[in-house]
Amino acid sequence: MPKKGTLFVVTGPSGAGKGTVLKRVFSEMDGIYYSVSATTRAPREGETHGVEYLFITREEFLDLIKQDRLLEHAEYVGNFYGTPMDPVDAHLAAGEDVVLEIEIQGALNVKRKRPDAVLVFIAPPSYAELERRLRHRGTEDEATILRRTEAARRECANMDAFHYIVVNDTVDGAVHELKSIVTACRCRRENRGFVLE
Ligand code: 5GP
Repeated sequence: MPKKGTLFVVTGPSGAGKGTVLKRVFSEMDGIYYSVSATTRAPREGETHGVEYLFITREEFLDLIKQDRLLEHAEYVGNFYGTPMDPVDAHLAAGEDVVLEIEIQGALNVKRKRPDAVLVFIAPPSYAELERRLRHRGTEDEATILRRTEAARRECANMDAFHYIVVNDTVDGAVHELKSIVTACRCRRENRGFVLE
């Protein structure tokens, strides 16, 4: 029985600290592939094509949709984001876990298309703290911060669709919880590929 990889969908409002928590989890656990999304958003300072995202044009994005090469896609605050399908399936087939860090519409679409996916919501401790973190990051202007704060409220209203909720009060606590979820999924009988001889 081969070991099976799990598809994890990690969602949470901008400012909940998904990126920070995931970076720590990746550095502390082996065997997880981070799916690099395609986006039409402009790179932020320090972001590199092929690392954080594949930064592509709107035309290129529409082409990927036409060719059915995205597992899911969504428009978020004026830009397109999507998950290239082939790398996800290749890594799952190789027995690796795969993490998609995506927004709520995409997460709900993946849940429909891939019922085995495990959905994790990373929540901020409060809306006030979320807004404080968004401002502190200093990468967006006021109008974008307000739009992202509104989007955050809409996303949190859909928390019920998720299997797990990780509250990012402290990064250490959230990392511990997320690692525990991944570990628990790896211990599932059907994922283990374990035969007692
Ligand atoms: P940001 O612009 O801050 O990098 O990302 C904005 C939002 O888009 C975040 O919630 C992020 O998780 C989400 N996102 C990133 N990649 C994808 C993707 O491939 N599909 C979807 N649906 N959302 C994505």
